[in-house]
Amino acid sequence: TELAARCARLIRDVADFPLAGVGFKDINPLLADAPTFADVVEHLAALARAAGGVDLVAGIEARGFILGAPVATALGVGFLPIRKEGKLPGPTVSASYDLEYGSATVELQPGNLPAGARVLLVDDVLATGGTAAAAATLLRTTGAVVAGLAFLLEITSLGGRARLDGLPVDVILTVP
Ligand code: 5GP
Repeated sequence: TELAARCARLIRDVADFPLAGVGFKDINPLLADAPTFADVVEHLAALARAAGGVDLVAGIEARGFILGAPVATALGVGFLPIRKEGKLPGPTVSASYDLEYGSATVELQPGNLPAGARVLLVDDVLATGGTAAAAATLLRTTGAVVAGLAFLLEITSLGGRARLDGLPVDVILTVP
């Protein structure tokens, strides 16, 4: 699509970040481009509307906050931050997942998540899928329904989509 092509031009490839050998997709030039940022938010919101709407948007720290919060306001629903371990005051629930080296933990505050809420989970990049899978598990163990996941960019070679249990996944653009 025209939007995907515009996004592709505004995502910068950075070699050896944050570690040697890792190729990082820097979305900040896209965020700095007002019309493209606005169009990405509206596109993600339109996909959620087309899928029957949601009760809440959950965003994954940190770039999932940047995209998820405006998607929530565009949909007229609230926003739930899913954060890295130790950042949220309790009560919290957490889920851990494996990284290439070591593990990570995501947390949310169940007090802000109504039972049975239909939630759209938003993040910037779907890579190996570990982060999104842990966040989706966390939402479901807390009694929410993951209505779908929305990303700006999917790195298809990393196979993340296969880890998302067949949940509906929308992305604006893919790269190999
Ligand atoms: P995964 O758990 O799917 O391997 O990694 C996804 C998480 O790491 C997301 O929260 C995403 O923000 C971050 N991430 C991984 N690789 C990249 C990248 O190349 N660019 C950006 N912007 N974020 C990335």
